[in-house]
Amino acid sequence: MTEPSRQTVGQDAPVFRFAPSPNGRLHLGHALSALLNADMAEKTGGRLLLRIEDIDLTRCTPELEQAVFDDLAWLGIPFEKPVRRQSEHFPLYREALDRLQAMGLVYPAFLTRGEVKARVSEYEREGGIWPRDSDGAPLYPTEERMLSDAERAEKLATAERYAWRLDIGKALAAAGHPLSWRETGDGAQGEISADPAAWGDVVLWRSDAPASYHLAVTVDDAAQGVTNVVRGLDLFHATSVHRLLQALLGLPQPVYHHHRLVLGLDDRKLSKSLGDTALSALRAEGKTPSDIRAMVGV
Ligand code: GLU
Repeated sequence: MTEPSRQTVGQDAPVFRFAPSPNGRLHLGHALSALLNADMAEKTGGRLLLRIEDIDLTRCTPELEQAVFDDLAWLGIPFEKPVRRQSEHFPLYREALDRLQAMGLVYPAFLTRGEVKARVSEYEREGGIWPRDSDGAPLYPTEERMLSDAERAEKLATAERYAWRLDIGKALAAAGHPLSWRETGDGAQGEISADPAAWGDVVLWRSDAPASYHLAVTVDDAAQGVTNVVRGLDLFHATSVHRLLQALLGLPQPVYHHHRLVLGLDDRKLSKSLGDTALSALRAEGKTPSDIRAMVGV
């Protein structure tokens, strides 16, 4: 990718983004994602943005963010400046939450993770099957949707912490029609039916981190004018939630391309804890950027 093509992109050029979370070192899976974004932007005369997804202020650090820049520079991927940092845009996510609240679609959720876990275990011990989302996490119990105003006010006055969750039933009714997205990736392709109900009452604002991934990513893709989302297949099903939020907030819908995952030798999805596939470790071993391209097959 050459600098001149960066400067000659038209107003309606496609906009791609790579959106890593600096809560660990980048690994081969990130390299595949970043390189695919770069190649697709290059091929289509598009723009390439970098977004630092650092909403989790406890796990994301400036050192890890710098490591992201270093790894990407080493790979030779030129991103537009300035880089967007999610931690600098919390008021924007709050505005989106406030709009959903004004529409009556969110509610304060008081159960802790432990309480939900205990509830699920008890239910399943008695032979019930608690519904789970596509990541295998139990859906949040729905009874707090039904609290009276007085009960809710009382809980809000005394709760140490609470989250904001989307009332998925009301949200689907407000969206009004079935949702879908255009998919060009390595799994199912074409017009994909979104199934946001499979996620239950998703959390939009956490008690321990402002804004959830789903809310921030949806708001940011729109704020940055992203037209093409290229990311791993592990986020395929999450797109259902993003489509719902786009519909509720009146945001444009990008085209999605969910690419294959890079598997470790033992076929596990790569994680940042598998240090041997960290780009920095491979670089220290003497691997070159073209070795990395060969290793991830692009
Ligand atoms: N920040 C997410 C991650 O590192 C990616 C989000 C996205 O591409 O939508 O897994």
